[in-house]
Amino acid sequence: MLSRIISALVLVYAARAERFEGVEPHMGTLVRITIYAKDASPLRAAFDRIAALDEKLSDYKPDSELNRLCRTHGEMVKVSEDLFRVLEASLKLSALTDGAFDVTIGPVTHLWRASKLPDAETRARVGWRNVVLDRQHRTVMLKMAGMQLDLGAIAKGYAGDEALRTLRGLGVRRALIAVSGDVVAGDSPPGAKGWRIGLEPAGGEILLHNAAVSTSGDEEQSRQIGGKKYSHIIDPATGLGLTAEIAVTVVAKTGLEADPIATAVSVMGETKGRAVFEKRVQKLLILK
Ligand code: ADP
Ligand code: MG
Repeated sequence: MLSRIISALVLVYAARAERFEGVEPHMGTLVRITIYAKDASPLRAAFDRIAALDEKLSDYKPDSELNRLCRTHGEMVKVSEDLFRVLEASLKLSALTDGAFDVTIGPVTHLWRASKLPDAETRARVGWRNVVLDRQHRTVMLKMAGMQLDLGAIAKGYAGDEALRTLRGLGVRRALIAVSGDVVAGDSPPGAKGWRIGLEPAGGEILLHNAAVSTSGDEEQSRQIGGKKYSHIIDPATGLGLTAEIAVTVVAKTGLEADPIATAVSVMGETKGRAVFEKRVQKLLILK
């Protein structure tokens, strides 16, 4: 009897859930959130969470927590749990990829934005081993002056995860968050096996739920420098943006994994990328 009442309640509840969608600019791109809920109000909380993360993690905002940290060196600085988690995940990937993924690449990416190639002095300020984390005290030390962290390859995936977590905290489990090409999915829409995600530029689509998909290496973000086209993805081994065309799509459990792994594999190339990540992710598509 009780179980019948419960299933009746579940049905009524499910029937009341409607589809709501919102699009807002955050993190230098457009964020689209789709939910099934009683009303649209959870969208606000999810977008606000992303906005708050942008205030912490952006390297474009002069007074972000990240940039305040970058103005220190040689001292242990207490940071937010968000910044710590993203840095921890970043450094783990740097170790795993032998430095192909490196969020200390900032001095080089900032020159790239001005269409300039890096000199030796700039490159000397890059190196993930110069970031020291202390989990117990939740502190970070930058060993050198003039370091610049750039979380552009990982913050969007994490923001997707956190927006989903915010929605779940409000009882909304059927949700999809797309921070540009970094997509995080919760439970499937009612009656569906997953969220349909079109794969660009690989083509085709996948059904995604409780997982994340990210694509890197898009053609759009590039700079013409001295007659050559350099991607916004930099190979830390050379300090230069990628010139070979590659597009990598990764499906993983979280955005915090899918986003940076897609970037890392773009740098490493197909052979090394597959060797390191094929077994660590749910799907790895590489298009050259
Ligand atoms: P998108 O921003 O188009 O989603 P990515 O997730 O691949 O693309 O991130 C690219 C960004 O990551 C660059 O714009 C730059 O900010 C940063 N970046 C570039 N090269 C590296 C690298 N080797 N390791 C870590 N971050 C990088
Ligand atoms: Mg990425």
